[in-house]
Amino acid sequence: MINVAIDGPSGAGKSSISREAARRLGFIYVDTGAMYRAAAVFVMQRRIDPDDAERIGSILPMLDIELRYENGEQKVYLCGENVSRVIRTREVTRCAPIVSAHPKLRQCLSDMQQEMAQKNNIIMDGRDIGTVVLPNADVKIFLTASPEVRAQRRYKEMCEKGMDVTYEEVLSDIRERDYYDENKPISPLRPAKDSILIDTSELDFEHSVQLVVDTVKGHVGL
Ligand code: C5P
Repeated sequence: MINVAIDGPSGAGKSSISREAARRLGFIYVDTGAMYRAAAVFVMQRRIDPDDAERIGSILPMLDIELRYENGEQKVYLCGENVSRVIRTREVTRCAPIVSAHPKLRQCLSDMQQEMAQKNNIIMDGRDIGTVVLPNADVKIFLTASPEVRAQRRYKEMCEKGMDVTYEEVLSDIRERDYYDENKPISPLRPAKDSILIDTSELDFEHSVQLVVDTVKGHVGL
């Protein structure tokens, strides 16, 4: 199986670029951020403090996350319930990094992710895919862009969805998430030693996708 790991900070365009690159390559796309977001919903629904490692550890056996592909689109199911929309709300976005700092929860999701990678040609995106989840991935890409560019893109996306936010709020959320992700004691965000750096600050979507596709093809000889 061919495994491609794409890591990078939030808002670098990882998900949309990875999804389209996977489609062109005929690979399955696995959005691990969506899995951490679903785990945050799981904790929030039970009104558990997201910092409470012990209680979170105790409910993990009940955590059931499934990525389904319906009409070519990835849908996220939590214990049988479609949570694809709710995982994108601001509350969940703020809770996900806190929940994702717990080692037991990371282990649980990492096991699920490794299983998917064993069975399929995949592009998997996240924060620790090349470093922890798939250290032997065939290709590792670290996809990034400046915080301002990332905030601008996310802000535009949220406005288009009719969400009520300001650019400053989005930029401050991005900086806060970067800080959490880069300073987590377990699996902090950093490029794997053997990863290829792609900075999309100056690239549009089409160029970014093509660069990823060409990079993958160049490395695995497709
Ligand atoms: O990528 P996305 O922004 O959807 O991820 C949501 C949150 O999940 C991130 O802020 C990050 O803290 C966490 N995450 C993680 N490890 C991954 C993917 C996401 O810790 N592999």
